[in-house]
Amino acid sequence: MSDSDCPLCAGKALDEALIRTEVWSDSLWRLTTVRIGEVAGFSYLEPRRHIRDITELDGEEAATFGTAIASASAAIKDATGADLVYAYIFGDAVPHLHVHLAPHRHDGSPLVNDMIKGARHQVRLPSGEEVWASDRYPLVSQDIMAAAIEDIRVQLNPGLVPDDEDAG
Ligand SMILES: [Zn+2]
Repeated sequence: MSDSDCPLCAGKALDEALIRTEVWSDSLWRLTTVRIGEVAGFSYLEPRRHIRDITELDGEEAATFGTAIASASAAIKDATGADLVYAYIFGDAVPHLHVHLAPHRHDGSPLVNDMIKGARHQVRLPSGEEVWASDRYPLVSQDIMAAAIEDIRVQLNPGLVPDDEDAG
């Protein structure tokens, strides 16, 4: 994939195709929360600018990364009732820096080794889209996923009126 083909550089335009909802953004960063998956509230923090990976993080993004990841993680934790939030960066598949922010519960959570190394299979959704799913953990219901998205969005955007369009 060349940089000009980068799907994350498209920003909000590709959120539908990637089955995620933007819950917060500023001039440098965006936070999106997935609408399908094994854990409600699973989100991606990524710079708007095309920064290939963490080794190339520089400029204003480097200066603001700490506050962006802290506030995003705190909102995800509060919204989902998680004990903590895992943050991990891979970068093999999409060469545009994106931090996976995964709510984790000590009493049992899919986001342990099973999600990184465990068996997966493809699931075809009613919409026709296909997603990867864990063999061991079921996908969370759409209502629970949507509620987490809305809770994170409201926490990161003080004074925001709940928006039916984004919540749906
Ligand atoms: Zn990019």
